[in-house]
Amino acid sequence: MSQPVTQPQASLYIGGRFVEGQGDVLPVMFAFDGSTIATLHEASADQVGQATETAQAAQPAWAALPPVERGRVLQRAAAIIRERNDELSMLETLDTGKPIQETLVADWESGAAALEYFGGLAATLTGQTIPLGRDWAYTIREPLGVCAGIGAWNYPSQIACWKAAPALIMGNSMVFKPSEETPLGALKLAEILTEAGLPDGVFNVVQGRGAVGAALVNDTRVAKVSLTGSVPTGQKVYAAAAEGMRHVTMELGGKSPLIVFDDANIEDAAGAAILANFYSSGQICSNGTRVFLQEGIAQAFLDRLCERIRNIRIGDPRDPDTQFGPIISDAQAAKIRTAIAAGQSDGARMVAGGPGEGAFVPPTVFADATDDMQIAREEIFGPVLTALTFRDEAEVIARANASPYGLAAGVFTRDLARGHRVAARLEAGTCWINAYNLTPVEMPFGGVKLSGVGRENSAAAIEHYSQIKTVYVGMGDVDAPY
Ligand code: NDP
Repeated sequence: MSQPVTQPQASLYIGGRFVEGQGDVLPVMFAFDGSTIATLHEASADQVGQATETAQAAQPAWAALPPVERGRVLQRAAAIIRERNDELSMLETLDTGKPIQETLVADWESGAAALEYFGGLAATLTGQTIPLGRDWAYTIREPLGVCAGIGAWNYPSQIACWKAAPALIMGNSMVFKPSEETPLGALKLAEILTEAGLPDGVFNVVQGRGAVGAALVNDTRVAKVSLTGSVPTGQKVYAAAAEGMRHVTMELGGKSPLIVFDDANIEDAAGAAILANFYSSGQICSNGTRVFLQEGIAQAFLDRLCERIRNIRIGDPRDPDTQFGPIISDAQAAKIRTAIAAGQSDGARMVAGGPGEGAFVPPTVFADATDDMQIAREEIFGPVLTALTFRDEAEVIARANASPYGLAAGVFTRDLARGHRVAARLEAGTCWINAYNLTPVEMPFGGVKLSGVGRENSAAAIEHYSQIKTVYVGMGDVDAPY
């Protein structure tokens, strides 16, 4: 596969063209070997303002287009992404360090699905008519205006598409700030949207660290903020957005439970635990990192899990045979190692993996853990699975719910009545029964409790990028008491 050009024409994309950032230097590293693949510059405060001003100016004409025309632009963008999937996926691999065998199927592909889905939905979105006897009312679903999108580094291009697609289809414009770690995909999306016919200024990209995100959130022209990130950042951004009564979508972290009952198919449950802990080197928000095993199946499950991960191919993410890549940054690898050390000192038994070295932390499994241990309570955002055992259904539901997070949950059982019963009682935005971490665009995705507010994907996302205007229509004389 040919190597894509990693240095973009310039760091920012404002008003349909590349613009160089006037702020600090932002080096972009390939996590596998620490080499610099691009050198960008952050946006200055003035440039953040220019981006929101440009987005504000472009929004009314975009919103005035017939929805089917807006949809066509997004669908063209999806087709361009699919045509260039190989090149875009390699760029994503270089930007994130994730194996090419993952990025080819999970990153831009999922972004294209969102553009395609919302592009198709556009022409079907209508208001309501409300009969009121003689009079009647109707509703109009209006865009919010300028939306700010702020992304995390684990799925940078997918996140940009998941936010842009519903926002743009409703006639909003967007200023997107990717994570400082992975700034390249959003610029590609901006270029592709322009090529697909998006009017200049409707989708803009600014680069920078947290301060640039904060400047964007505090800009009075911004009507809505959609963040994918950690809970502490979410709390700050939500509070700042509240100052201006701005709408928010918060896709935040988790410590999700994956519950395996004695009657589960062990092979499937172990496969799900692998997907729920080690895909993308464990850097996935919805990961099922608390694996609750019913006592009768615990040892057999752990034996099979360890056997399967022993054969995992760790290495250069550009190699199509590599299944497991490096951690995004030294800082993140250090955080994961601190969590592994805490697991050991708290007395959990490490049955696979360990701290690793350099950019690599291997798939790591702790058994004999208890709910009060740090590894069972805090999000690690790395390849660390914590196995806990339980006796019965009521106990495991109570323990699974005893977390401030509520992003996702999984249940493995052959008893489907139990599967649905447990899913109904789990405090999570997304539950899987006999599956894990599948997030097709057709279904809503998002968290409860500290894991966030709002939903991405599916028609549910439309609610979060639009507001309803009600129009009351008087059809007769006006009765006034005096
Ligand atoms: P962070 O919370 O560190 O950062 C998220 C984004 O917010 C980055 O672009 C960051 O900029 C920016 N940011 C930081 N501070 C501010 C601020 N004060 N105002 C505005 N923006 C700010 O998350 P990570 O990038 O480390 O991503 C990992 C986290 O994301 C995990 O907790 C994970 O669970 C969560 N996540 C949630 C998902 C979901 O859908 N629920 C999906 C993927 C990840 P910068 O980093 O450049 O400084």
